[in-house]
Amino acid sequence: MVQSTGQQPSERSQDYAIPRERMVARLREHYGIRDSAVLEAMLAVPRHAFVPEALQSRAYGDHALPISANQTISQPYIVARMTELLRIDKESRVLEVGAGSGYQTAVLAKVAGQVYAMERIGDLAREAQTRIRALGIYNATVKCFDGTLGWAANAPYDAILVAAGGPNIPEPLVAQLKIGGRLVLPIGATRDSQTLVRVNKTEKGIEREDHGACAFVPLIGHHGWSAQPGKPSEKE
Ligand code: SAH
Repeated sequence: MVQSTGQQPSERSQDYAIPRERMVARLREHYGIRDSAVLEAMLAVPRHAFVPEALQSRAYGDHALPISANQTISQPYIVARMTELLRIDKESRVLEVGAGSGYQTAVLAKVAGQVYAMERIGDLAREAQTRIRALGIYNATVKCFDGTLGWAANAPYDAILVAAGGPNIPEPLVAQLKIGGRLVLPIGATRDSQTLVRVNKTEKGIEREDHGACAFVPLIGHHGWSAQPGKPSEKE
């Protein structure tokens, strides 16, 4: 009897397995991503399932793409780099702020033990949760709320990732991090350009490391920018 993989060639190309393998090779060889759990997660999660249907053939390109509500799904390299900077494993409890399409949430769920994700736009939060469940991922929950306030009920976290750019480090996120925990986020003096920052929480306070320039959509909320362009909404 002829052995079958159960997958026709057309199904395999629809699954974008080859572009996904190329994307992961580029992350490893061109961008120097080394964490094998991160590379395996990016090989496992079907990125095309997180972008609008008309853009699916571009899902594995080396760029961000628009999703709904004027938001973006981050460039694959940024997703991989931020996940690597978190230094997480299956024991880790992770908070994500700015779930957007849910792609980064799914990647985190493959690497971490438990993921709590927050998204301020209700439709995006619902769609992200639906996609993640449809992929059989059960260790990630998406809630619609202002993530700059964190999610105190599940704190403290081993690691926190913020996928939108704010004017400074939201204080509740530092408070909800374990001693020894990592917070990775873009910080910028303007709404549209930032530096990628890792904050390490120690017994003595926080240490800040800069990891290069980046461009994210604005972080909007109590400890972020106001919904109207031009000014931070913080009441400090
Ligand atoms: N990692 C996401 C990127 C989404 S873009 C992905 O892979 O698709 C950033 C998201 O942050 C947007 O969806 C935006 O609505 C959301 N966001 C901005 N400010 C927020 C806040 N204070 N709390 C929660 N989500 C926020």
